[in-house]
Amino acid sequence: MRRPSGRSGPGEQSAESGPVRTCVGCGSRRPQAELTRFVVGPGGAIAVDRKRRLPGRGAYLCGAGCLTAALKRKAFGRAFRGKAGQVDPSQLGQAWEPGTES
Ligand SMILES: [Zn+2]
Repeated sequence: MRRPSGRSGPGEQSAESGPVRTCVGCGSRRPQAELTRFVVGPGGAIAVDRKRRLPGRGAYLCGAGCLTAALKRKAFGRAFRGKAGQVDPSQLGQAWEPGTES
């Protein structure tokens, strides 16, 4: 068994394709541009951050299937350090529905 003790340093960013983030649903690491970012607002509501510009901590997902996995794992609670309130899966699922871009 290998332990991730030999990290090369903070940041963990790829210089070639920009920052890499970990999907909170499946745990795979992907370029940030390929992931959908979610943020938690002051009231604890989780919102989609399509442009990845909103301030605060973000949680990343690569697809709707990972949303389900993240909910099962209570990954949002961890990603947002307990600040996330009630999660509405159907609302968050709209992040991947076509035609909702505004
Ligand atoms: Zn994923």
